[in-house]
Amino acid sequence: MTASIIDGKAFAQGLRERVAQQVASFRAAAGRAPGLAVVLVGEDPASAVYVRNKHKATIGAGMESFEHKLPADTSQADLIALVDRLNADPAVDGILVQLPLPGHIDERAVITRIDPDKDVDGFHPVNAGRLATGLHGFVPCTPLGCLMLLKDQLGDLAGLDAVVIGRSNIVGKPMAQLLIQESCTVTVAHSKTKDLSSVVKRADIVVAAVGRPAMVKGEWIKPGACVIDVGINRTERGLVGDVDFAGALSVAGAVTPVPGGVGPMTIAVLLRNTLVSAHRRAGVAYDKDAL
Ligand code: NAD
Repeated sequence: MTASIIDGKAFAQGLRERVAQQVASFRAAAGRAPGLAVVLVGEDPASAVYVRNKHKATIGAGMESFEHKLPADTSQADLIALVDRLNADPAVDGILVQLPLPGHIDERAVITRIDPDKDVDGFHPVNAGRLATGLHGFVPCTPLGCLMLLKDQLGDLAGLDAVVIGRSNIVGKPMAQLLIQESCTVTVAHSKTKDLSSVVKRADIVVAAVGRPAMVKGEWIKPGACVIDVGINRTERGLVGDVDFAGALSVAGAVTPVPGGVGPMTIAVLLRNTLVSAHRRAGVAYDKDAL
């Protein structure tokens, strides 16, 4: 049996096009474009690439992009003052502070300062609480992108056994919340989980978000399972995921590649969240089903 390879790049492209269509209708209704502000502190090369890609994608979708590049020695007070200005700026619908921040800045203090209704990354505790209690808020982009791929692949997820490997606030925990909302039976595995292979073996859905190259072996996977690989690991062989891709291909029903699976979804969902924020803030209706 050979699994089908989930084309996250194509799905993300489709989502970006649907976002761009609704950007056009929003502009006509509100008389302005949705705006995303991205803040980068310091010169971390990976972060600089992410920020550049977000800027390009934002412009590409017809939105307004406000880039704020601050030196690495920016004080926490100055960064918070910028967040306050962006919170108050009516042209800004979404605020994203690129993580990680330099060591002298308390990330939590900065993230909690963002207006939850502009927190398109969904990292503010208010949005985490909204997700946990089923209220409308912003859901972190990577797990929401994973859910879109799963639903596209499997349709209704109700009753399926799902295992999420990883319990971070950014991926693992919100992923588990989303799958609970879809009526899956969810197990969250992590670094202290005993006998991970047997936990994974019973899952119809496996989401791996660990950061260890090819840790999930093909023989751990239940035949026919849908495997979503969030991991991004830079190795001598190039970029690899958390799942042994070749091994998974021979047993799974469907699997995301790295690169070209979950990665492209993250920016597409960021644009989607910014579009939603603009509509909510302006009181303009939007087509939820197209997003
Ligand atoms: P993290 O380091 O915050 O969390 C990793 C999690 O893995 C922890 O909860 C830990 O308990 C668990 N873990 C560690 N070792 C384990 C083991 N041996 N067995 C089982 N669980 C173990 O990482 P994160 O921010 O959640 O990111 C996870 C991975 O996803 C990384 O490779 C990251 O680069 C990638 N990522 C990709 C995207 C994307 O857009 N594709 C976005 C965010 C993160």
